[in-house]
Amino acid sequence: KDKILELKNVVYSFHTYGGEVKAVRDVSFEVRKGEILGIVGESGCGKSVTAQCIMRLNPEPPGFFEGGEVLVNGKDVLKMTKKELRKLRGQDIGFVFQDPMTSLNPTMKVGAQIEEVFLGRTDVTKKEVKEKALEIMKLVGISDVEKRYKQYPHELSGGMKQRVMIAIALVSRPDLVICDEPTTSLDVTIEAQILDLLLELREKLGMSIIIITHDLGVIARMCDRVVVMYGGKVVEKGTAQEIFYNTAHPYTKGLMGSIAKLDTAKGEKLTPIDGTPPDLFFPPKGCPFAARCEYAMDICKDNPPSCYKISDEHVTNCWLQHELAPDTEMKKENAE
Ligand code: SF4
Ligand code: MG
Repeated sequence: KDKILELKNVVYSFHTYGGEVKAVRDVSFEVRKGEILGIVGESGCGKSVTAQCIMRLNPEPPGFFEGGEVLVNGKDVLKMTKKELRKLRGQDIGFVFQDPMTSLNPTMKVGAQIEEVFLGRTDVTKKEVKEKALEIMKLVGISDVEKRYKQYPHELSGGMKQRVMIAIALVSRPDLVICDEPTTSLDVTIEAQILDLLLELREKLGMSIIIITHDLGVIARMCDRVVVMYGGKVVEKGTAQEIFYNTAHPYTKGLMGSIAKLDTAKGEKLTPIDGTPPDLFFPPKGCPFAARCEYAMDICKDNPPSCYKISDEHVTNCWLQHELAPDTEMKKENAE
């Protein structure tokens, strides 16, 4: 298995006036060549910080690694020089943010923003740079590229702006593109188009993609494998198939409850999980989900659950998988 990216026991925190925020608490996962990995969870569960620390996008300080390794093509990002980090951000990994409006420069023409990626490179001429920009614009499905090239971001629709963002992320043909809630600010029709575009680009270019989302619908449509995050931790990890059809963590099950009926019975009430994610200033000692979990047992509150293997590709951190735990419906289903 070719690993493009591997996080090993990453702990990432922030110094703040109110104390230390433990945003990422012992997170491990890998991204393989050509696959789409989804990271799902409610907001405030550490998804975005996890993605950003892969490229060290947060200012450090206040952000800092307390431990772990982030290996990109086998090389540890924590040990990279400034020059290596610049290459990592500019060439090896692309990043697409949630809101293209805040990440595009409103005072710069679209073409120039795409070309900026080549700034400081001596191996391409000005003419070649423009050709490459137009080519990548076509690749991401922008029509009438000569005209768009000269327009400013405000002259484009939301979907078109997101295509420009994707173009910028792809210019240097990275091995991995990280998309943080890439369609959250778009309406459903445009969302579907952008997701299809990402699937198509994966086919054509063979790159790996990480999609961060709070929406299991996006996961179902796109992902080969899934990492479920809660309270700064990974609570379940597996193939999309296993996550959906053999759900092993009560939090994942809760997320399902809030989407399951979306397309079947319109108007039927969703069942979101009661309560809110834990405050990461004071992360819970035991299972992060204990305060909201309908299956919580005495052991859960003070003891972090061990990692249990459901199958070769599927693991969960939940005490329900312990051999002495009472038999719940969930556990029985997982065992089948
Ligand atoms: Fe619920 Fe306990 Fe499992 Fe946490 S470890 S999800 S509280 S059953
Ligand atoms: Mg986020």
